[in-house]
Amino acid sequence: MGGNWKMNTDLAAGVELAEDALAALAAGGLEQSVDVAVFPPFPYLQSVGRALGHSNVLLGGQDCSAEASGAFTGQVSAAMLCDLGARSVIIGHSERRHGLGEDDDLLREKLAIALESGLVAVLCVGETLSQRDDGRAEAVVAAQLRGCFGTLTAEAAMRVVVAYEPVWAIGTGRTASPDDAQAMHASIRGVLGDLYDSAFAARTRVIYGGSVNAKNARAIFDRPDVDGGLIGGASLKADDFVSICRAAAEAWSAT
Ligand code: PEP
Repeated sequence: MGGNWKMNTDLAAGVELAEDALAALAAGGLEQSVDVAVFPPFPYLQSVGRALGHSNVLLGGQDCSAEASGAFTGQVSAAMLCDLGARSVIIGHSERRHGLGEDDDLLREKLAIALESGLVAVLCVGETLSQRDDGRAEAVVAAQLRGCFGTLTAEAAMRVVVAYEPVWAIGTGRTASPDDAQAMHASIRGVLGDLYDSAFAARTRVIYGGSVNAKNARAIFDRPDVDGGLIGGASLKADDFVSICRAAAEAWSAT
């Protein structure tokens, strides 16, 4: 379960959110049953990392540069994230693909350098509403996967978590139906099976993101190919985020 804080919180609120989430996860006995990562804004990584201490909650960056180092004003390298104790990074969030024009060629480079640096990469894919309305959702997502995985070896690609995030569902309050999410997740596994093999496809985590909240989480996580969630707005309240984690734990223990 990933909490993508985007460009929210200030330093004190970010630290408090991490502390509250940690306490609620521990109180709910969820620390061992759900793998959790939080993705604070870059400037707060170190302080939030300190708040997380030696807990099981991973610290992650919301992006990294495709470059290792050098004259790239404003960018943050994968190595810098590691230096601050981050163990994960989001690559290709729709707010970067569509908001900042990042394409699959750039994202493939970011993914490669993130994995080389030892980070777990959460690779976001997803179609726009018009692509879905045109019946092209699965083809668009398949092309994004092929474009981003490129020629990555299976060994390197093992540290990729795929996040299916339909663009029209992010921050809109509109979620994919559990059936549509399941269909896309099965399709994603099919593409991973073609790129690598069926064992790789079966063990890769494919998580859903797009307006997940404490109320709708369980129905989505009940679907067999949904392995977790990337949570934006609802990750900014510790209780909501931990309720979503609990919904996931309950869905998996019921299967
Ligand atoms: C996200 O930012 O990845 C996301 C899914 O946001 P929200 O949950 O707010 O739709």
